[in-house]
Amino acid sequence: MSIQILSEEVASQIAAGEVVERPSSVVKELIENALDAGADQITILIKEAGKRLIEVVDNGMGIPAEELKLAVHRHATSKLKNAADLFRVSTLGFRGEALASIGSVSYLTLLSRVQKEDLGGSIHVEGGEIHAAESLGMPPGTTVRVEHLFYNVPARLKFLKTDRTEKRHINDMISRYGMANPDVRFKLYHDDELVFQTTGSGILREVISSIYGVSTAKQMIEVIYEDENLAVKGFISPPGLTRSNRKEMLFYVNQRPVSDPALSSAVTQAYHTLVMKGRYPITVLFLELAPEKVDVNVHPTKAEVRFEDKGDIFKAVSRGVRRALLAHTPVQEVSNLRGISLWGGSSSDQSQFQRGIDPSWTTPEGNRVEGVFGREIDSPQISAPIGGPILRLIGQVAATYLIAEGPDGLYLIDQHAAHERVLFEKFTAERSDDHPSQALLDSVVVEFSPVSADLLKEHIPTLEKLGFDIEDFGPGSFVIRSVPGSLQGSSPEAILRAAVEDLEVDETPLEKNIEDKIIARVCKRAAVKAGMVLSPEEQKQLLLDLEACQSPRTCPHGRPTMIHLSVDLLERKFGRTGPM
Ligand code: ADP
Ligand code: MG
Repeated sequence: MSIQILSEEVASQIAAGEVVERPSSVVKELIENALDAGADQITILIKEAGKRLIEVVDNGMGIPAEELKLAVHRHATSKLKNAADLFRVSTLGFRGEALASIGSVSYLTLLSRVQKEDLGGSIHVEGGEIHAAESLGMPPGTTVRVEHLFYNVPARLKFLKTDRTEKRHINDMISRYGMANPDVRFKLYHDDELVFQTTGSGILREVISSIYGVSTAKQMIEVIYEDENLAVKGFISPPGLTRSNRKEMLFYVNQRPVSDPALSSAVTQAYHTLVMKGRYPITVLFLELAPEKVDVNVHPTKAEVRFEDKGDIFKAVSRGVRRALLAHTPVQEVSNLRGISLWGGSSSDQSQFQRGIDPSWTTPEGNRVEGVFGREIDSPQISAPIGGPILRLIGQVAATYLIAEGPDGLYLIDQHAAHERVLFEKFTAERSDDHPSQALLDSVVVEFSPVSADLLKEHIPTLEKLGFDIEDFGPGSFVIRSVPGSLQGSSPEAILRAAVEDLEVDETPLEKNIEDKIIARVCKRAAVKAGMVLSPEEQKQLLLDLEACQSPRTCPHGRPTMIHLSVDLLERKFGRTGPM
């Protein structure tokens, strides 16, 4: 066979093989184009998981009618002029390949109007061939309609996964761009049903909330870190909020979503000793660095990038995350509360001290980088080992706190937070194997409303995985025969109700890890409450269990379990040190 130059059609299809792997790849390219066009409203309409239709409507700058044909031409772009530009790309696209590729494997229609024209232009591409163009009335912006994707590439069509999976890929893609662009209003419809939207308010925590739910969004810790080369910004989950895989560790380099295993391991390192093996945090982290320090042209869909100073970048990411974590979850050291009057007085510091909580823990904006009570976050006390001290029980106060002696002074332990931590660790430790379940001597019947009952039915398999044995007993009633072994001793009804309540508030379509939420919630419900008098044996057991924890110093929601009054502090307070 002699060497021949491939026809444009074949060449495009080959290129499409790289760029357009599945419906979500089309969604990605079209969203990038809309963002590059400066749109602040992007609506995505999907039919049959993208196989029948993918339509993206934006209100961006539009394409002049006479340039429509060029837009679908391979290597045609308005974003680069010469090779030098390639090293300082600030747009998401620059290869001029997406529309040509998509047009070669689908029926592609482009409708677009620039602001200053009264009418928009349109163009239709079928199997790479450009057809009829006409003018039409439309608001300024661009609509790209992709129908019957892969109709002429049956092999690709065959490799698509179930509709459910393809929809999930699309949803994930849109959430990734949604988080990178909080000031853009995204709307996503699957088969005419609105399944996801963001407000465009510019507030990242709000976007996180529409993707992962309100309670997750509230718990996320803000990261703000900067050195001379690089800024790292965004949110990370507290050590108690983790997933079983790395899928929700998202990274962006100069606003571009990237995947880089080295970045996730930089973050995982920062969590070292704070989360259990095999558990991963949720992250939404934005790296900003000079465009010439990163090569974005190393991957056909631009999902991978190459850094000039890889080592430095990973160190900075790890450091930034670690600082934010330590600032969020140190043991409360009272020694920094100046002028505090112990066991009495009425300074406002005193009330914080009694609650054991810095008031800012409870506000969403409260996740700061600076240390608790304004302490320098790099002070050696905080970077001390994270494990817990060995404790000797002294007693219980106010039916809420345990008092214990440790290697260096006095410890006050919040019994509820401590028990929550203990249960949580028992639970997650078991999860890798099978959850042992504890059969109840008398099975318990619980009644639910029709809506709750439906939800519960749907999630029985998940609950069974966690160690419940529940049977649907007819309209609205369920029989609990076993509960997870680690929750033995708590009210089975209360635990099940807590689990179902969680399912009810969980309206976010993209929420995936229900299991994690149920565990955290159930542990909270099952934990001893403040105000409960504990027998000396129970107190002792709680301390022993807490000592055995991997992260004894915080509850699963990241609040402190203990406050430390050092011998040093006591001596100072009693006037035993310093000039007499
Ligand atoms: P690239 O984005 O790499 O330039 P594409 O094939 O995705 O290549 O798009 C080709 C060109 O079409 C873009 O450079 C841009 O000028 C124009 N274009 C595509 N989509 C839009 C849109 N939604 N709004 C405005 N212009 C667009
Ligand atoms: Mg593009």
